[in-house]
Amino acid sequence: MAGEPQADCLFCKIVDGEVPATVVRETDHTVAFRDINPQAPTHVLVVPRAHWRNAGELAAGDPVVAAALLADVAAVAEAEGLVDSGYRTVFNTGSGAGQTVFHVHAHVLGGRGLNWPPG
Ligand code: C5P
Repeated sequence: MAGEPQADCLFCKIVDGEVPATVVRETDHTVAFRDINPQAPTHVLVVPRAHWRNAGELAAGDPVVAAALLADVAAVAEAEGLVDSGYRTVFNTGSGAGQTVFHVHAHVLGGRGLNWPPG
């Protein structure tokens, strides 16, 4: 069921502390941790504690948590010193777009120049 923990979900396990991660921020609704395979000098993932497959399902199912997640992206960017230089927020949605973990997560990327359009 949407919003419920999924036994086979890696990010549910990180939220629960069952799988280790370098956590940089925690709130009632979200957990932010460093990506294990960083694509930029700063690469943090922000996830809701509740399990939703992607950003659209989160926004439709729990708009309060969706808004909290976006606020936490901004808080992470501020804490990581990315606001002046700029940063990118990415929600890969669907395997065709590169989503590999089906627990919604915002990638927060910064600390280097970021080209547009992305690959
Ligand atoms: O958007 P996508 O689903 O591909 O992103 C998943 C991200 O989760 C990857 O960037 C991957 O490096 C990261 N990851 C992680 N810790 C793990 C497993 C995957 O940070 N234990």
